[in-house]
Amino acid sequence: MEFCVECNNLLHPKCSQDNDGQFVLNLECMTCDFVGPASSMKVFTRKVVRRAEDTASQITDEVISDPTLPRSFQTKCASCGGEEAVFFQSHIKTGDTMTLFFVCCNEECKNRWTM
Ligand SMILES: [Zn+2]
Ligand SMILES: [Zn+2]
Repeated sequence: MEFCVECNNLLHPKCSQDNDGQFVLNLECMTCDFVGPASSMKVFTRKVVRRAEDTASQITDEVISDPTLPRSFQTKCASCGGEEAVFFQSHIKTGDTMTLFFVCCNEECKNRWTM
């Protein structure tokens, strides 16, 4: 979890597309207007993120060892009960909500789910 340097509130990941069509992750504060780059901005290719409903099945196991992805320590895995999960946002907008994808960091579980 990362916190806003301006107001110390929780930052939320926000995925956007740069000029090359690559997806970059920024951290956005919901309280003030602060937007900052996620430490080393993990890039998703278009191949990986296409349609929201396809994306979950296309997530590779490698994401759980990717140090650039944000991690959640408060989300309980429904499968193993583990509390560490990698998460990222889909760029697909369904109405007004962004889909968050979670992958359980338990090597023997690797459960995937969306919120
Ligand atoms: Zn802030
Ligand atoms: Zn799990």
